Amino acid sequence: MLDVVMETPNAGLDLVAIIREELKVTDSRIILRTGQPNQAPEIEVIRDYDINDYKLKSELTQSKLYAALTTAVRSYKQIRMIEAGKKGLDMIVRSSAELLSKNGLNAFAQGVIIHLSGLLSVPPEGLICVRRNDKRREGQPEIIAAAGHYCVLIDKPLSDLNEEHARHLLESSLDSRSNVYDKFGLALYLGSSARGDMSCYVSSATQLDEIDQSLLELFCTNISICADNLTLLEQLSNYAYIDELVGLPNRNALIEKIQTTLENGSRAGYLLAIGDIDNFAEINASLGQKYGDRLLQAVAKRLLKRFPDPCVVARVGGDTFAIFGPDTHLKPENVLVPFLTEFDISGEEQMISVTAGIVPLDEVDGAASEAIKDASIVLKMAKTHSRGEVIRFNSAMIENAKDRLELLKNLRTAFDMERLVLNYQPKLCLETGRTLGVEALLRWPVDDGEFVPPGHFIPLAEQSGLIVRLGEWILHTALMELQELKRNGWDDIHMSVNLSVAQLQHPAMMKTLKRVLIETDVEPGMVDLEVTESVAMNDVSNNSQLLEDIKAMGFQLSLDDFGTGFSSLSYLQKMPIDRLKIDQSFVQSFDKGNSGEIVELIVHLGRTLNKKVIAEGVETEEQAAFLKSLGCDEVQGFLYARPMPATKLHAWLKERNH
Ligand code: C2E
Ligand code: CA
Ligand code: CA
Repeated sequence: MLDVVMETPNAGLDLVAIIREELKVTDSRIILRTGQPNQAPEIEVIRDYDINDYKLKSELTQSKLYAALTTAVRSYKQIRMIEAGKKGLDMIVRSSAELLSKNGLNAFAQGVIIHLSGLLSVPPEGLICVRRNDKRREGQPEIIAAAGHYCVLIDKPLSDLNEEHARHLLESSLDSRSNVYDKFGLALYLGSSARGDMSCYVSSATQLDEIDQSLLELFCTNISICADNLTLLEQLSNYAYIDELVGLPNRNALIEKIQTTLENGSRAGYLLAIGDIDNFAEINASLGQKYGDRLLQAVAKRLLKRFPDPCVVARVGGDTFAIFGPDTHLKPENVLVPFLTEFDISGEEQMISVTAGIVPLDEVDGAASEAIKDASIVLKMAKTHSRGEVIRFNSAMIENAKDRLELLKNLRTAFDMERLVLNYQPKLCLETGRTLGVEALLRWPVDDGEFVPPGHFIPLAEQSGLIVRLGEWILHTALMELQELKRNGWDDIHMSVNLSVAQLQHPAMMKTLKRVLIETDVEPGMVDLEVTESVAMNDVSNNSQLLEDIKAMGFQLSLDDFGTGFSSLSYLQKMPIDRLKIDQSFVQSFDKGNSGEIVELIVHLGRTLNKKVIAEGVETEEQAAFLKSLGCDEVQGFLYARPMPATKLHAWLKERNH
């Protein structure tokens, strides 16, 4: 309460200006008292100087004075409460967000002490202890975090704390599960979570008023929710790193482990082995998933036993396990040792065979995931060539695989840029020499006028699935060419198109065939689809149905590379096949001292089964004469014509005066 006129006529107003503007004290209430009503215009003064009240001396009776003062004090308290609440709440909200980003309970607890001290405006001196639910250690609270001079007590039992009052506060907070205060400090009960009861001590000599206390309650609730969430987060990160079925580290965990090793600069001398169980899918299918699960658990156990710390055993996929460790402990020759004796799975004796690939870490360039990739490539190679063995990485393997990947990338680009073309190789009637048809063969021209051999890139396209799109384009282009031939008067020439297994078994295969027929308006009887014998005979029940469907659409069908597969004669008889195409290796071996018995056999077989027989790869007159003597129907080969571009084909046909 100030007089306006003091040392100077404006001293009161000047003081208010200093309080508000210089000292920036905004919450204190100020009552101005003046004798002269005209001296300070009421409204302006109150507005400009944030004055709570303005009274004339003559107005101020005792009761009015009392009322003015109590009102001012009350509103001061309200302002303080709102301010403190705002600041504290803001801090609590911020702290929970910050605390949750901390990794692990100790860092979290450390953060709690710091935030709590901030809230109380005291230096960060304090500690947090937990009384675990764990039966064995019940009653013995442990200090899990501390700040200030208490730091030395981290991970010690609470009984090591020799400040009696602090220990006492913490114990009574844990016992009563509530906040406890005394004149030196306070112990806040932070709730009970899966880990046990938790309490936090901070030394604070300031007396806590009601606002502070209710804010602290809020802080505690908030912290205990945080602590619960933290447990949840830890569990989640466990899920992210532990394989639930077998309890081993998973792929993520393995990657981290390898990464740490790499970052420590200790590449040399470390090995990564990745192996999987041969025919696990069959074991699973025939003996049931539960059985399969138990087998995986048993495998995990054996690997762990054989390769304990410092090795890391991980499960990186269905039946794929990894062992990572120094070569002093992880010896390639020992990797398969755990599988030399049978497993006892639910009373069954189960022998398994395992194939593995090994990569020395110093031969991997790049990150940890690269090592896993490389080891998987080695494993994959081992699976095709050396089942049941351990194959050690050599850089040529990976180079090879990388080259193939590069090639596939280039093939995609070439296809998308429409750089692929078809060549056509005539097929002739051996008896009359008439051209019966042509076979479409894919060509990939590269810059220098050379071609990438289809034998190199077709298998890649098949493995990657690109063959499906590519195959449709081939079929479409070949049938358009067939129409072109027809327009030029060659209307009895057939078109042969090779179908790969991925195309044949693609779910949309029949639709594609129909679509291309409609688009090109071609008579399906003029089209001969070539499927290799090995494809047709693999998965016979499924594929023969597909072939039936194709046949029913009106296409002709040939079995390509015949003699190299393993046809069952009874199936062959039932298959809707028009033609057997003798593989060129048999045709050509006739010159090389072989008597050509296989060719003879196939020609006879064709006759018996009432199918046409064509010989491919005919290069010499001798071969042709031999085939003629056997009564082979059709021929194809360099002796007659090489595969050629469409324009050349037209010229060739003209020249032969077909
Ligand atoms: P394929 O279907 O057995 O094709 C016959 C291969 O023998 C062709 O090789 C052809 O150029 C070659 N050839 C023809 N006559 C002779 C001969 O007298 N002597 C010798 N040494 N070779 C002869 P190409 O064009 O290199 O194709 C190789 C394989 O690539 C084909 O074997 C086929 O499996 C695949 N292929 C080629 N084009 C396509 C296609 O458009 N689609 C699919 N799915 N596969 C294709
Ligand atoms: Ca062919
Ligand atoms: Ca062939």
